[in-house]
Amino acid sequence: MGRSMHTSITVETTDRVSVHDITDNVSEAIPVEVGQGLCTVFVPHTTAGVTINEAESRLIDDMESKLADLVPTGQGYGHDEIDDNADAHLRSMLLGQSVTIPITTGDVNLGTWQSILLFEGDGPRTRTVEVAVIPA
Ligand code: ZN
Repeated sequence: MGRSMHTSITVETTDRVSVHDITDNVSEAIPVEVGQGLCTVFVPHTTAGVTINEAESRLIDDMESKLADLVPTGQGYGHDEIDDNADAHLRSMLLGQSVTIPITTGDVNLGTWQSILLFEGDGPRTRTVEVAVIPA
């Protein structure tokens, strides 16, 4: 078991709500000398989230619209009186802030149709994504 390694990725989001495929960024953050291990992708934000799913553009539209259906904007949320972004916090809670992926042969071992997706709930902003790699 070697030492764990951390890398930060920066993502410039483009809209108030958007989904970004960060799979290639995560792959590049895995040191080549790590053959096998685990990779945790962590989003240190309260109005963004991360999930794994298919990066198909119409499905991404569906994700955005379903999250908006589940958590509509401006429903009299208490936090809106402070910050006017309760919808973004609540949508991010549905997705969560981290995913852990096995590393095999030096890269994330995702399924054929799986991509790592960053959800932006209150952009556009500069977002940080932490990639923690634990070699096995
Ligand atoms: Zn807030």
